[in-house]
Amino acid sequence: MDLFRADGHLSEEALRLLAQNQVCFNDLERLETAEHLAFCDYCLQRYTYVLESAPLLTPQNSCQKSLWTRVRMRSLQLITSRYATAAAAVTIALTVLWGGTPVEFVRPALPEDRPSISRRLTDWTGEIRDSLHETASGISNLFENLRPDYSAQGGN
Ligand SMILES: [Zn+2]
Repeated sequence: MDLFRADGHLSEEALRLLAQNQVCFNDLERLETAEHLAFCDYCLQRYTYVLESAPLLTPQNSCQKSLWTRVRMRSLQLITSRYATAAAAVTIALTVLWGGTPVEFVRPALPEDRPSISRRLTDWTGEIRDSLHETASGISNLFENLRPDYSAQGGN
């Protein structure tokens, strides 16, 4: 059996025997084959095609049913955890909006002796108004006293 073809690549028979895992190579041939497959992409592709036609191993216990059950359970958990929370929030909001007793916000009345800002502002504006009125009337009286009295002099 020739391990290599004339062009330097692995022969078809060598690839077939390698794929069938038959022990007919000595250590030197195994080393040369492994070394050639390590750097030659063409022979590696041919070896892959030969392996492709080999029968595949089947597992003793298939995990397909248990996997699909797990996937369904996980998706059910995701849906319930996401949408159940949102549904509970909407239910509580609607219950508060429509079902509950109306809530009125009443501002407590202040006692009369307790000072408040608006009452103080009212007092201050009253004081300012009174002082302005007094000032204006004082100025008016001053002008009244300074004006000459024509009625007393030229009445006759
Ligand atoms: Zn090659």
